Amino acid sequence: RLGTMTEPSIFTRILNGEIPGEILARTDRVFAIRDINPQAPVHVLVIPVTEQYRDVTELAAGDPGLLAEMVAMAKQIATEHADGEYRLIFNNGARAGQSVFHVHAHVLANIEESRLVG
Ligand code: 5GP
Repeated sequence: RLGTMTEPSIFTRILNGEIPGEILARTDRVFAIRDINPQAPVHVLVIPVTEQYRDVTELAAGDPGLLAEMVAMAKQIATEHADGEYRLIFNNGARAGQSVFHVHAHVLANIEESRLVG
């Protein structure tokens, strides 16, 4: 393969069935998987199929419609798996806790009341 190509991300490998993962929804452009290390009773990652954007800043500049599709899927997940209310988080950069540099949104729902401050 081309020398400029990098290894597929962990999320792409899940989408391709190369490693296990629970895919909850998908369209031609966006998919959703359950987070392996949940921080809330519902903790789902919404991810664009393309790996070309490393964070939400790049995505918003490069394809705002794709960002809108991610938000729509987040709402769908929150409706199907909770009461439709949810927290949407993007970590941007390693020092902010980002560990996978294939942009993804964390959808958190059914959050324990004591953890809702802030
Ligand atoms: P980040 O820290 O980059 O914002 O989020 C990466 C998320 O991916 C983490 O919450 C982590 O638990 C999740 N994650 C990492 N590896 C895997 C995996 O192999 N499967 C699943 N389902 N989630 C993963």
